[in-house]
Amino acid sequence: MPDFDLAIIGGGINGVGIARDAAGRGLKVVLVEQNDLASGTSAASSKLIHGGLRYLEHGALWLVRAALAEREVLLRMAPHLIRPLRFVLPLDAARRSPLLIRLGLLVYDCIGRREILPPSRAVDLLTDEAGLPLKRAFHDGYEYSDCFADDARLVVLNAVDAAERGATIRTRTRCVRAERADGWRLTLNAQGRREVVTARVLVSAAGPWVGMVAETVLRQPPPRRLRLDKGSHIVVRRLYEHERAYLLQAADGRVVFTIPFERDFTLIGTTDRNFSGDPAAVMATAEEMDYLCGVVNEYFRTAIAAVDAVWAFAGVRALYARGTRKAQDVGRDYVLILDRRSRAAPLLTVYGGKLTTYRRLAEAALAKLSHFFPPSQPWTAESRLPGGDFTYDGAPALIARTQRRWPFLTADHVRRLIAAYGTRVDNILKSATRLDDLGMRFGADLTAAEVRYLMAKEWAQTGDDVLWRRSKLGLRFSDAQRAMLDRFMAQAGT
Ligand code: FAD
Repeated sequence: MPDFDLAIIGGGINGVGIARDAAGRGLKVVLVEQNDLASGTSAASSKLIHGGLRYLEHGALWLVRAALAEREVLLRMAPHLIRPLRFVLPLDAARRSPLLIRLGLLVYDCIGRREILPPSRAVDLLTDEAGLPLKRAFHDGYEYSDCFADDARLVVLNAVDAAERGATIRTRTRCVRAERADGWRLTLNAQGRREVVTARVLVSAAGPWVGMVAETVLRQPPPRRLRLDKGSHIVVRRLYEHERAYLLQAADGRVVFTIPFERDFTLIGTTDRNFSGDPAAVMATAEEMDYLCGVVNEYFRTAIAAVDAVWAFAGVRALYARGTRKAQDVGRDYVLILDRRSRAAPLLTVYGGKLTTYRRLAEAALAKLSHFFPPSQPWTAESRLPGGDFTYDGAPALIARTQRRWPFLTADHVRRLIAAYGTRVDNILKSATRLDDLGMRFGADLTAAEVRYLMAKEWAQTGDDVLWRRSKLGLRFSDAQRAMLDRFMAQAGT
């Protein structure tokens, strides 16, 4: 008897999404992640839950439609992590025909199931506050809806839910060898300790490492159709006052987003470049940072430069290339390849995908594997992620309730906690009656109570796990504060 029904390599959004769905169907699941959860591409996305307006230009109507439908499903599933976001698109007839844009937005409004998100509309940039930060040349624009998500926490909370439904989640555990017979025998390296687990079915959800896993873990030939494509973002001090994002048309035909981020910052991205090498070493280059600043400077009155970036990050997509086209043109949808040789244990490999469609991808993966397991039904469309058991517009009420119950917290602190933990904030604050009851303070508004919770319930082991993946407090921490947090966690973890 194998130890597990299903073993999953990769703790990015696709791996944890499959783990959660499978565990909810009663399967015995183990997921191994070589580093921290969301340490790969899944924390380096543009963080949009979107159809992808620009994919309409490539005729990817079905991909856009499926992704648009997921926006409200995910918004209801995780109202703490995901929020509706309006995008302002300043018109520049030299870059794209305004008529074409209007048409594209009409399609965007109509093909996506939409009960919550408002439709697109024209914006007069001479009178609307969205025009204020822009150069005078931009008179007209359109505004449309998508959603913004905390990508890394979406990964972590899927893993939390999977674990609560019985899955075994092993972080800092690399799968170094997978031997195939009538079942799988996986050799794991857990921070120097060697272990072996067995499973009936194996899923490789290793994102941009999928080729490396094929070659070095499964000892298979490298996947021929795999293409790696890199994108970088920068974060600068807040560029403007209001809460809308901009979609800027660049001279090279691409688009660049500017998104209000973590209250005091603006997230700008992304670039799109072919990539080769180790995805772990991917970094935003000076040339990419200049490119992003250049596009922003064409539109905004206040100019920015690469030195203004307080943070930069890059991620790598694994794309399943259908031809030899440019990176932008390669399909952004997922491809699931099931290898089911007779008398050999099945292997499912995940290529590509979007944060937006991870839940659908997980359902499709379980459907592909349905022959090997007892019959089960899809269940995640109506489900809630941990802490997300309130309505999509219920955050203000939850914030008010939390503020009443723990009046010693500042409004910004409460807002941050609700955006991260939703109703599970109670499990951190418990019976505290003053700030000191939450223990040591490390910097910004991070307390020992929150860090202990993250270590006990969300697999946080290092300062970076807390500061960059369980939160974005890294934007506000000094080196000394970071070192203090690392020391505290090292002691608390022993
Ligand atoms: P990953 O998140 O990379 O996870 C794979 C994991 O496997 C890694 O954590 C890695 O450590 C682990 N792993 C690898 N090998 C092993 C091993 N041997 N043992 C154990 N673990 C292993 N999508 C959207 O919907 N909206 C967006 O706005 C958006 N923006 C994007 C912007 C950029 C620049 C990029 C690159 C992508 C963007 N995407 C977006 C796409 C989305 O981010 C990805 O599709 C998604 O994150 C891929 O998740 P994954 O789980 O497949 O891969």
